[in-house]
Amino acid sequence: MTTIVTGAAGFIGSTLVDALLERGAEVRGIDSFSDYYDAASKRANLAGALSNPGFELVEADLRHTDLAPLLDDASVVFHQAAQPGVRLSWADGFDTYDSCNVLATQRLLEAAQRTGVGRLVYASSSSVYGNANIYPVTEQTLPRPHSPYGVTKLAAEHLCGLYAANYGLSVVSLRYFTVYGPRQRPDMAIHRLIESALDGHPFPLYGDGSHVRDFTFVDDVVAANLAAAEADAPPGLVVNVCAGGSTTMADLIDVVGRSVGRPVPIDHQDEQPGDVLRTGGDGSLALGHLGWKPAHDLETGIGAQVGWHRSRRASVI
Ligand code: NAD
Repeated sequence: MTTIVTGAAGFIGSTLVDALLERGAEVRGIDSFSDYYDAASKRANLAGALSNPGFELVEADLRHTDLAPLLDDASVVFHQAAQPGVRLSWADGFDTYDSCNVLATQRLLEAAQRTGVGRLVYASSSSVYGNANIYPVTEQTLPRPHSPYGVTKLAAEHLCGLYAANYGLSVVSLRYFTVYGPRQRPDMAIHRLIESALDGHPFPLYGDGSHVRDFTFVDDVVAANLAAAEADAPPGLVVNVCAGGSTTMADLIDVVGRSVGRPVPIDHQDEQPGDVLRTGGDGSLALGHLGWKPAHDLETGIGAQVGWHRSRRASVI
């Protein structure tokens, strides 16, 4: 049987592909190499996987491709593909978020249900919560997204739930809280902070540095996916995948500066529409249903990501 990973060339998808190959799985990765960031970085993410005979890459867009033949021999589908990020989801950008996140998920669910896939794991997001009244948020907290991106991730999560409720499709949705680590997307704060510290160019800090985030290391997110594929979970289960920490942007800037060995130069900017003040999750349900809990602390994880930035720079010189 084959394991499918959508968004296989991305930050989280490619890390998951490597972990699956390491476990001896036969993996079919699907990715459109969308232009959200440069395709060369995504191809570099797959360099190891492409030399593994257990890996097949299908360059295809989930919005237009006939998906049933790609899922025909699949036991598990890890659905990581999406148009990510909050800031571009306003105005004309919304069309892409709508089609890549909602329509693409609906097409994948339809194909999974028709071909009898055993388990589909959906990469949802803490952005479904928006600004909550009480922290940490549990899966019982009313989702009230604060950005169009969050709306599309929640809509797709609801689609997962209704394919589970109406057709018994075995779907687990994982609400990731700000993921970081090697291969992190170039638009994400930790990636840009580390590059700023290494280069000495200013990092634009939106707001006053008091925003709080629950940062989750990518290997922990991969472990949650592997657990979700195998767990005896009720169809439609939704769980938080979070480290449970509460780090302010100001503290994060200090951690990155210490890890790089140079302070991050800061350029103070106004808050951005769609940015929530705080994220913070309760991971009890993931522990109860998946037996999963995070294993990496922020300092260790940032150290690993700094090492990746340095080795990437060394390989292009
Ligand atoms: P990423 O952009 O690195 O990876 C997503 C991949 O999906 C890209 O390689 C892209 O080319 C592909 N893709 C996009 N639209 C596609 C389509 N229509 N057809 C086929 N492939 C398509 O992003 P990431 O940070 O690795 O995020 C992976 C998933 O995790 C996404 O679903 C995202 O919403 C979710 N998520 C990420 C975070 C985070 O902190 N990175 C947090 C919460 C949720």
